[in-house]
Amino acid sequence: MFFVRSAEQIAAPCCGGSLCIVGSRKRVWYKSSGEKAKLVIRRLYCEACSKIHHELPDLLVPYKRYDAESIEGALSPSSRINVAADESTLLRWKCWFLAWVVYAAGCLQAIRIRTGLPVTGPSAETQSALHVLGRLVGDAAGWLKRVVRSLANSHLWATDPFCLSVRALSG
Ligand SMILES: [Zn+2]
Repeated sequence: MFFVRSAEQIAAPCCGGSLCIVGSRKRVWYKSSGEKAKLVIRRLYCEACSKIHHELPDLLVPYKRYDAESIEGALSPSSRINVAADESTLLRWKCWFLAWVVYAAGCLQAIRIRTGLPVTGPSAETQSALHVLGRLVGDAAGWLKRVVRSLANSHLWATDPFCLSVRALSG
């Protein structure tokens, strides 16, 4: 069992208000080896607008059981990480990513505009989803958690998009 505590005092992602701790909740963490661990995540309450936030460590992706390293490994063609997950899980991640990457790239652009950073030009249609994100957060290992952290801390983490339907899976 691991207890998650952020070292610094963070402002609420919703409005920048101050947060107070109102409890905790357990969360399962699947590593790429398939090994499971339990995390205790703090529930934080925004005193300014009454929203509840969960203090998720950046090794995890919201609503996903496997850690960011595993999911990134399964999505990156050049990855050397061998993920112990079944085929249907891997396929679900790929479907999720196809839908999510469009949203994530838009959010990253919006964050850049908000913080006064130069916005990269429109991407060519032929660019892969991975390439688009790579231009925004770099393509070195850890890119998935960099995107997740940016979105979550800017209060832009939307509920999981639906998985795109796969039309035919004949062998
Ligand atoms: Zn707030």
